[in-house]
Amino acid sequence: MRVGYAPAVLVADLRHFLELPGDTPAPARRLAEQLRDIVRATTAGEAGAAWVSALPCRRRPGNRRCPGRILLRRNESPATITWECTACGDAGVVSGWQDTPYDLNHRPTMSSGPAEDIGISDDTVASLRETMLLDAECERVVYRGRANRGQIVLTATDEQLDELLGYLAAEANHETNRRRQQRLDTAYDELSDAAHGSVRHAVTSPGSSGAPLGMSAAAAARPTPASTGLPDLDVARVQRWCAARVPGRARHQVRVECQLATRHLTIVERRAPRQDDTRSDWTSFPIARLRYAETAKTWTLYWRDRNLRFHVYDRLPSPHVDDLLTEIDCDPTCIFWG
Ligand SMILES: [Zn+2]
Repeated sequence: MRVGYAPAVLVADLRHFLELPGDTPAPARRLAEQLRDIVRATTAGEAGAAWVSALPCRRRPGNRRCPGRILLRRNESPATITWECTACGDAGVVSGWQDTPYDLNHRPTMSSGPAEDIGISDDTVASLRETMLLDAECERVVYRGRANRGQIVLTATDEQLDELLGYLAAEANHETNRRRQQRLDTAYDELSDAAHGSVRHAVTSPGSSGAPLGMSAAAAARPTPASTGLPDLDVARVQRWCAARVPGRARHQVRVECQLATRHLTIVERRAPRQDDTRSDWTSFPIARLRYAETAKTWTLYWRDRNLRFHVYDRLPSPHVDDLLTEIDCDPTCIFWG
């Protein structure tokens, strides 16, 4: 391993850090990890201007963790990465990273749709970085995270956030270490809240005018399973389940329906206006939300609080939508139907 020290600047060629022998001492391992993270983050972002990443400084002067973050810049020619801690001035130059597994620059982005900025904590972004088996696109979203006023800002589409949530749920499900599982759960909740905070207004609130039943224009405006990417058969199952919730004789007054959106569906209870009220439409009140993560092929269940925010329901991600419907039916804690 060739590591040269120019004055206070660590000059490293990533090719010497790709495969470490089993007996590599811990400090060299940590350094390799830091360099790989630096390469991932820099190549996930744009070349040219320097930016402050979410990566923490790994130095511990006086046995206390340096509070700095890593400022990154990707230089085009020669292709090098320069990095620097914002607090202690620890700095380096990395070369030889092109076409290594840590170079995220040339991976295609599949997701379309508007990307939004969401703010999450350092702990959550650290949990995301530690999540194994992230696909290249999710990896890029995570590593592109930039530090801003004590928060980490991720720029992601709704679809990418769903994918990240799916990975976190799957990871938490398979984790046997309880403390790490709790960290993953916390990260899941935080990311889920942040994600839903940005789309929350799309939920029909009670009293708002849901389209009257049977109105074809409204039905046409609603997304179909094909346009959402939700599995058709699962959507059909949920629709059958909704229909079976209310006996036929009561359906002129109350119905349970499922509203489709990109990557999730919301189960709503709809009520007819009072008989003397001819001007109002049916009301919609959300009961539960089911989110689908396409890569993990997993459904996750959410309950709704009184402010109409959705929260993940314990840990019930399942590939089978029926498992979630059964849980809503049983409602052991009276969280869905009150
Ligand atoms: Zn530092």
